Amino acid sequence: MEKRDYYEVLGVQRNAPLQEIKSSYRKLALKYHPDKNPDSKEAEAKFKEAAEAYSVLSDPEKRQIYDQYGHQGLRGSGFSGFSGFEDIFSSFGDIFSDFFGGSPFGSSRRRSTVQRGADLRYDLQLEFTEAVFGLEREIELERYELCEECGGTGAKAGSRPETCPLCHGRGQVVHSQGFFTVSTTCSQCHGEGTIVREPCSACRGTKRVIKKRKLQVKIPAGVDNGSRLRLTGEGEPGSAPGHNGDLYLFIHVKEHDFFVRDGENILCEIPISFPQAALGAELEIPTLDGMHTIKIPRGTQTGHIIKIRGSGVTNLRGYGRGDQIVQIKVVTPTNLTERQEELLRELSDITGDPVLTKKKNFFEKFKEQIIS
Ligand SMILES: [Zn+2]
Ligand SMILES: [Zn+2]
Repeated sequence: MEKRDYYEVLGVQRNAPLQEIKSSYRKLALKYHPDKNPDSKEAEAKFKEAAEAYSVLSDPEKRQIYDQYGHQGLRGSGFSGFSGFEDIFSSFGDIFSDFFGGSPFGSSRRRSTVQRGADLRYDLQLEFTEAVFGLEREIELERYELCEECGGTGAKAGSRPETCPLCHGRGQVVHSQGFFTVSTTCSQCHGEGTIVREPCSACRGTKRVIKKRKLQVKIPAGVDNGSRLRLTGEGEPGSAPGHNGDLYLFIHVKEHDFFVRDGENILCEIPISFPQAALGAELEIPTLDGMHTIKIPRGTQTGHIIKIRGSGVTNLRGYGRGDQIVQIKVVTPTNLTERQEELLRELSDITGDPVLTKKKNFFEKFKEQIIS
């Protein structure tokens, strides 16, 4: 899965100011927002791609790393971008509240309702055959979890968050403007309704801490480059049990020296000699399950296809296996020995095919061209 250039994704110049990046992202986010494009995988992918680009280009430090080293730079650094470990939706809340004065995810951000945990992404590299046959692997990932020290309140042990004196716990402040009343997010508690006087030392008042954890994942046979597996509930914890986000495993498959994957079929090319093509042969060739004998019929041409049924990749939905498609390539002999050349010349005499005469030197060839 080739990653697109972030500037290209947002359609801005490399020297674009932050304001332009922001406004370009806003347009894309509105266009591809999941609420506007229900069930469109393409829109969802575009939406996430734009969010990822924005999360990097809107952060001066990440942007600098990206400008200098590209995607690779973000991958190796602590700024993991969206590769490895990232909180796909966490950046949206802020930007949408900037734009619309509210979150696009309905009331999910209000404190009185349950907040779903963020989705996470993990990129998994597989060998060709691992993807074909599936495997179980332990992965290690980091995610935010509720701080155990303060029980997720953000307040120092022994203390409690206090009701915000400005909004009296409502999280919203109401102003009158002529005939209208406008309510805005409370500036003192940032909509939380509570304030923490003495923050918890473990999470510094953020209520969350990053934790490493190991997870045993089962990769089904038949996944391919670009496959995305969802592990329900393995994302970040929500504000109540049962509201965890999901973990998305993005599958990347390495190329094979000999086999090429085409969906559930496996393609390969087998070179054969001219005598084998003309006279037929039996050949042992590799398949995913070991060596397999194929029969080359007499008079086989380049491009001839031999199908080995059931030697392909397992269908992800369990509809059996694909085929191995063997394409034959007749290889013209080069560097002939004297005896081989003698036999070929004899053959061409019999068939009557005109061929070049033996080993002309440069001068002879030159003369021939001038005359003709
Ligand atoms: Zn804490
Ligand atoms: Zn308040």
